[in-house]
Amino acid sequence: MTIVANREPGAEIERRGLMLVISSPSGAGKSTIARTLLESDQGFALSVSVTTRKRRASEIDGVHYRFIDRDEFERLRDSGALLEWAEVHGNFYGTPRAPAERAMRNGQDMLFDIDYQGALQLQEQAGGDVVSIFILPPSMRELKARLLRRAEDSGETIAIRLANARIEIERWRDYDYVIVNEDLNTAFEAVRSVIAAERLRRERRPGLFDFTTKLLEESFD
Ligand code: 5GP
Repeated sequence: MTIVANREPGAEIERRGLMLVISSPSGAGKSTIARTLLESDQGFALSVSVTTRKRRASEIDGVHYRFIDRDEFERLRDSGALLEWAEVHGNFYGTPRAPAERAMRNGQDMLFDIDYQGALQLQEQAGGDVVSIFILPPSMRELKARLLRRAEDSGETIAIRLANARIEIERWRDYDYVIVNEDLNTAFEAVRSVIAAERLRRERRPGLFDFTTKLLEESFD
């Protein structure tokens, strides 16, 4: 399938989809960045995870997550229907395999909002298709303030997430890119720059061979 990858000359060149993983501790701004990216870049589809966590008031089943019980999660996991899965903050989360594999085949870029355990599993399985970004908060104080401001989680949940933040931040070395989210617009622009560069990578564009072969056959007139 031929996909319009970008606006540069030769844009019709075929390529494989990009698996963009964005991770961060809760409250570092990852969800806002992910939402802005999905709204502004039609090339990206969100990988909708399954989770055993309770739905927040602002969330829609099937859009933000597919909310399932523990039995169903285990059934999906044990039948190989999940590309990766992990326990995060006491709940189970997993990436459905079929939509991600379909997207890659069709040259569709996919965004994965998953934790470091999932990022590692995806990197092991999908290697060169994966580009990973870790979002850091500018300070621990600001991280806590953002979690409190969100006001969608109980005090207990916030305490668990803050305790886990240090463990997550320690994994920054596992990622291709690290962005400090001091200012949302600046952080988002950095994410867009990463995507723009990664979409141009030679090894992600098998169609370049045909394009350059044809180009070299052309005369200068
Ligand atoms: P939340 O409960 O705030 O929506 O997500 C908690 C954490 O779980 C976040 O760090 C999020 O990135 C991660 N997460 C969400 N879906 C998945 C998934 O399918 N796999 C993995 N490994 N982590 C996920």
